[in-house]
Amino acid sequence: MSQITTGIDNFKIEKTEEEVYYFFYKSQPNQIIEISGICDDCNECVYDYVKKLDGLEKCPNCKSELWTSSKCAFEFFETDEDDDAIAGFAYRDFSESELDHYKIGTMTIQGLINVDKEIVRVVEYDNDDKGTLGLEEPFENYGIKYFSKDIYDALPRISLFTDEWRIHWEQSIIYNNKLEKIN
Ligand SMILES: [Zn+2]
Repeated sequence: MSQITTGIDNFKIEKTEEEVYYFFYKSQPNQIIEISGICDDCNECVYDYVKKLDGLEKCPNCKSELWTSSKCAFEFFETDEDDDAIAGFAYRDFSESELDHYKIGTMTIQGLINVDKEIVRVVEYDNDDKGTLGLEEPFENYGIKYFSKDIYDALPRISLFTDEWRIHWEQSIIYNNKLEKIN
């Protein structure tokens, strides 16, 4: 076997001599991608409590004056750390809808990272759930500095992301250029 088909336009997972990793994560639909009613101080969701309030109050969790905002899943990877830049470069979400104080949709981490060429390519989806692998983009576009952290440093970040956001993946594989699963 020298290639794995993905069902995604332009995206072939193929054997090569170059150091390439193929990310192939897609969630079930209706995953939580944004939560509103998060306490700005302690990061707890206090939406149900806030709903019953008339005016300003204290956070039931941390007791500070209560200000709330939304938290988006993609922000997990926006840490300026190299392991998150590698783990999250291909994160996308789509097919959004609202449910109570959540936004729900489908998440993907699909694309490839070519360490020899220092480029990535990312799969984007349209509203008909059709994916296409994008063009080559340099590491700088995604803040990736590969040589301080590598793919194995990024794997625990994806695991933690999966736990924190309670994501159910339909596919969750990373292949190397020999078509071995590395996660
Ligand atoms: Zn709080």
